[in-house]
Amino acid sequence: MSDRPPEKTLAELASPNYECRTCGYLYVPSKGDSKRDIAPGTAFTDLPPSWRCPVCGVGKNQFINTGSSDAPSGFAENLNYGFGFNRMTPDQKNLLIFGLLLLGIIFFLSLYGLN
Ligand SMILES: [Zn+2]
Repeated sequence: MSDRPPEKTLAELASPNYECRTCGYLYVPSKGDSKRDIAPGTAFTDLPPSWRCPVCGVGKNQFINTGSSDAPSGFAENLNYGFGFNRMTPDQKNLLIFGLLLLGIIFFLSLYGLN
């Protein structure tokens, strides 16, 4: 039992995905690895040293951190820079961009209704 230091990025706190450099297999912590009895929610760094890629069998050192898919990147104290945009997850950014696009289309169509 040891307390972890708090100086971690949000993406790290949300357990980043790791991708196998050899075969492209993606380890997603929220899914775990049912083939090897790894419970969902297990961070890649918490996997046993003996864990290997379930597809091609290479060791953990062949995996690269690809970041979390469901958390903002960067440190928590940086999130208020960039007009708050950094606070958003990639999904939220997509939603915003497509939402604005949709609003623009609706506005454009409403111009026809004026006549
Ligand atoms: Zn692999």
